[in-house]
Amino acid sequence: MSINWFPGHMAVAVEKIKKAMADHDVVIEILDARCPMASANPLVESLRTHRQRPCLKVLNKADAADPGVTPQWLAYFNAQKNVQAIALSAKKPGDAAKIITAAGKLAPHRNDNFKPLRMLVMGVPNVGKSTLINALLKQRKAKTGDEPAVTKALTRYDLSPTVSLTDTPGLMWPKIDHPGDGLMLAASHIVGIKAYIESEVATFLAETLLARYPKALAARYATPADGEGIDGTGVIEAIAARRGFRLKGGGFDFDKAATTLLNDYRSGTLGRVSLETPDTRARRPAVVSNTDAEAPESGNATPGTSR
Ligand code: GDP
Repeated sequence: MSINWFPGHMAVAVEKIKKAMADHDVVIEILDARCPMASANPLVESLRTHRQRPCLKVLNKADAADPGVTPQWLAYFNAQKNVQAIALSAKKPGDAAKIITAAGKLAPHRNDNFKPLRMLVMGVPNVGKSTLINALLKQRKAKTGDEPAVTKALTRYDLSPTVSLTDTPGLMWPKIDHPGDGLMLAASHIVGIKAYIESEVATFLAETLLARYPKALAARYATPADGEGIDGTGVIEAIAARRGFRLKGGGFDFDKAATTLLNDYRSGTLGRVSLETPDTRARRPAVVSNTDAEAPESGNATPGTSR
């Protein structure tokens, strides 16, 4: 399955962001620490490098990610030119303030009333951008919610006389080249529910967790602790069996069990997990890109809506 997601308002936002880039000093790119590369919008890279803007990569939701994996991602991003990376949790008091300190280091010449530090905050939907911005504003000026893409227009906030922040809409890109990225985004609730088939995403998630965290699955669903002798479908069937999810005819209610697995991952019930590491990413088979040959499309998403 490939997941395509590019509602019309996002194309408009790209144009606005392109213009806004000229008046900003640092791009703050919010990523999901559980899948930092899958949640890195290639448009952010191309827009910011076109204007040679430095980037602070913020691996948010670090509280939900594997604490052994996040440092690997920080090292990976910190090795990139003009890039700094930090990991934090928008929900942890005081964490958001780390953004201002780190962004200031990327643009040391922007540090007074005449030359305030102007940060442009970007990220895919549902990555925690509003939560972070609210924490920075210390008041709920931006709307938060568990639905992707609630913020629709570019909004500028003055945090202090020397620091401003511009919020941008949660932005996807026209075509996700690697199916694995689309599946990680769907599992992590970054693309809306209309863009994917839950059972397919849950099967992928089960396979990823079997390979990386078999003990976490075993603890919750009594699957084999070593992850052997079972596949993704088997995990979902095991959930259905354990919870007594049955269809009228007596077969397993696969869809209900699939939803349970997705919810357990998203709520952190399975523990702190990361769906990818720099190594798993480097080792995965390449997919031939056909982006250039195709016009932006919305796939089975609903254009113009956030879900
Ligand atoms: P936005 O669409 O990027 O603005 O995302 P929101 O700020 O609305 O957050 C989306 C969801 O992620 C909400 O349910 C938040 O409570 C949750 N969230 C945000 N930051 C964190 C975090 O650091 N850790 C965890 N576990 N959840 C977070």
